[in-house]
Amino acid sequence: MGNLRQVAIYGKGGIGKSTTTQNLTAGLVELGKKVMVVGCDPKADSTRLLLGGLAQKTVLDTLRTEGEDIDLNQILKEGYKGTRCVESGGPEPGVGCAGRGIITSIGLLERLGAYTDDLDYVFYDVLGDVVCGGFAMPIREGKAQEIYIVASGEMMALYAANNISKGIKKYAKQGGVRLGGIICNSRNVDREEDLLRAFAEELGTQLLYFVPRDNLVQRAEINKQTVIAYDPDSNQAQEYRNLAEAVENNTKLTIPTPMTQDRLEEILMEYGLFDGLKDDYRI
Ligand code: ADP
Ligand code: MG
Repeated sequence: MGNLRQVAIYGKGGIGKSTTTQNLTAGLVELGKKVMVVGCDPKADSTRLLLGGLAQKTVLDTLRTEGEDIDLNQILKEGYKGTRCVESGGPEPGVGCAGRGIITSIGLLERLGAYTDDLDYVFYDVLGDVVCGGFAMPIREGKAQEIYIVASGEMMALYAANNISKGIKKYAKQGGVRLGGIICNSRNVDREEDLLRAFAEELGTQLLYFVPRDNLVQRAEINKQTVIAYDPDSNQAQEYRNLAEAVENNTKLTIPTPMTQDRLEEILMEYGLFDGLKDDYRI
């Protein structure tokens, strides 16, 4: 298992983690990589595009209905070109901590032998607004050694990215987890790429890739496919292939240097993003 890269994708809800992770996975598969994707969001839609909409029962739901005695093939389904797909799921709404699904799932996958020697990548697609309890688990327990944060040129996305970085920094010393970079999933905000570059530099990391906004992403999504599968000759498919290469070739793994709220606001103001918003967003 020497070459296995265990990667967690964090970022605020709705920023594009699942879309980006699955398209990135499709790009890596084209490079000949073997990939497992573990959805760690109670929404359980981290593998839908790879599975072509195939109903995937979550690990927590399977445990609830089948008990502890289950087989790997009940929670792991093969998707696009052999990718392995798992959804952790979440507790019944209002009951218990959503992060627990992640802890349970990874433990079960380990016991059932899902981490086979031929794997090149495992991606954990984690809801990361708050790096609390269970959601921090892939970082805290050293399950993922390499983190990418999906963000865009918006206050709350960058606020979340900075918070996630605080979590990474906290556990970097004991565990060896590192930040591999920021992936900008564009919202077509003015000067977005420059802002993200400045933000990444302040964090002691890099803007790994700038993914443009394209309606083709939603069209592919309606057809339950990644862009690479749905329209392989499109510009957007090529963007995701480039992202896959950027991840594959990335060696810049750092301990982040999170900023204060004041410094974050200063950077946002430098890029004209924060004027007039200040009072609305102050916590
Ligand atoms: P998350 O997993 O972070 O909650 P999703 O991946 O589900 O976010 O994305 C949220 C929505 O944004 C989806 O409907 C998706 O189609 C859309 N989306 C994501 N990335 C792009 C993009 N680059 N261009 C256009 N739409 C996008
Ligand atoms: Mg998601």
